[in-house]
Amino acid sequence: MKKIATAIILFVMSVSVQAFTLVIDAGHGGRDGGALGRKSKEKNINLAVALELGRLVEQNCPDVKVVYTRKTDVFVELTERADIANKAKADLFISIHTNALAKGRISRGTETYTLGMHKAAENLAVAQRENSVITLESDYKTRYEGFDPKSSESYIIFEFMQDKNMEQSVKLAKEVQLQFASTAGRINKGVYQAGFLVLRETVMPSILVELGYISTPDEENYLSSTAGQKALAKSIYRGFKKYKDRL
Ligand SMILES: [Zn+2]
Repeated sequence: MKKIATAIILFVMSVSVQAFTLVIDAGHGGRDGGALGRKSKEKNINLAVALELGRLVEQNCPDVKVVYTRKTDVFVELTERADIANKAKADLFISIHTNALAKGRISRGTETYTLGMHKAAENLAVAQRENSVITLESDYKTRYEGFDPKSSESYIIFEFMQDKNMEQSVKLAKEVQLQFASTAGRINKGVYQAGFLVLRETVMPSILVELGYISTPDEENYLSSTAGQKALAKSIYRGFKKYKDRL
């Protein structure tokens, strides 16, 4: 009896200690490979970094509950990813992606996005590429109310959107970008806004990171290496930790 009572008390304590819920979203998966490099796929890089990030948080932050939108190579619809976060009443949503440019174009470095209206064409292009995954969903035209991920006109709605979490999201984005440079030695390309559907559907502070360019050979080598993935995950972890400690 005493043992049961102790177990109940410990359970209640662990629940109350885990006051913060972090949702980690590994972009793409299953039939959606994401951006493709010469030898690697975005979906696998995202998942490796997501799992390593979750491991670091679980190991070092007993007060944080980690929820994943996927832990294996499966297809998850964008709305479902947001639903998971909303249902978990998450305090924070981190979506992990890998960037790419068209053949012949070279760029290097990490970017972190929050939801908003893009100011530059290249930021719109990133959102267009990431949002285009909805065309793999069966009824995307009705579900996303006619949103055409490839049409720049579809993105006008983001200009009039009020995001109450913008300030918090930008704070986290800046911390993560600083860590990508200092912890992993990557080029800090900065913090931007763009119309990412997955961020629009979530109701908590949220960011979307682009880990680097799978289309740039030396960056692809780094992104697909265990050392690179660990350093990138550690960067996001440290950025998250700084953000959370300041709350
Ligand atoms: Zn992606």
